[in-house]
Amino acid sequence: MKARKAVNIRTCLGCHCRKDKINLLRFIILGSLLVYDAKQQKGGRGIYCCDNDNCLKRFKKNRKKLAKALHVKVCEWNDELKRSGSIE
Ligand SMILES: [Zn+2]
Repeated sequence: MKARKAVNIRTCLGCHCRKDKINLLRFIILGSLLVYDAKQQKGGRGIYCCDNDNCLKRFKKNRKKLAKALHVKVCEWNDELKRSGSIE
């Protein structure tokens, strides 16, 4: 029996460093809304950011570019998303 190591490297869209996604915050686009996916289980296109203020700041700043990259018109950001930890 071989245990396959599940390492999923993703790029932080704040600092562009590559990390295992378990060390990153995951966000998805629902419609035009950027939502925080606390459990990293929601479907859809995920984007990732380090869990630190510097990266999140840049990430927010970059969201127009993100919107373009994700082919959505706008990328709304809600500061409460991270804190609430839920998109329900
Ligand atoms: Zn980062």
